[in-house]
Amino acid sequence: MITENKGKLIVISGPSGVGKSTLLRRLFQEYPDKMSFSVSYTSRNPRNGEIHGKDYYFTDTETFRKKIESNDFLEWACVHDNYYGTGKAEVEEILLSGRHCILDIDVQGADSVRNTDIPATFLFIAPESIDILKERLEKRGTESDEAISKRLKNAVGEIAQKDKYDRVIINKDLDNAYRELKEYIFE
Ligand code: 5GP
Repeated sequence: MITENKGKLIVISGPSGVGKSTLLRRLFQEYPDKMSFSVSYTSRNPRNGEIHGKDYYFTDTETFRKKIESNDFLEWACVHDNYYGTGKAEVEEILLSGRHCILDIDVQGADSVRNTDIPATFLFIAPESIDILKERLEKRGTESDEAISKRLKNAVGEIAQKDKYDRVIINKDLDNAYRELKEYIFE
């Protein structure tokens, strides 16, 4: 894996429903030439509207396991009972192009990236409170009640690890959070 490049590897974590995707969408719209999202692989089913190759590469569990065996992942983790992984080739291609490479990965994946020799910066997007996160997940309506409970339980564990990150941004107000995110990336 390359370690010298012009682009930065930027790892973003935060609980499900905190608004990471919305913030990142804005970032890619404003800076299409400066940064790219590394599309992850997952064994979870696509949600309504999600596009294979854009949101994720949706694979079955067996294909995912084969990719683990072939050492295709920079990191991978089991999150909310599904596999998720970052392809080495995807990250390499983005960094070699000179663009910043953004990873939206969970806290376990961030730990794995910390254990590689690739320089990276780590950002955590936190909700104002667990109650507000619950409201957002319910409003989003993409998960069953059971899945929401699981995601909220995981959120508590994830938030407990926020101090491992270089910067924590609280997404209380989307515009402010977006400004902070931009400032941090371009500082
Ligand atoms: P969702 O199912 O809501 O898209 O994502 C669930 C969680 O999996 C999120 O916390 C997201 O950051 C994380 N995730 C997405 N892709 C990856 C990946 O490639 N690796 C790891 N470790 N986590 C991921």
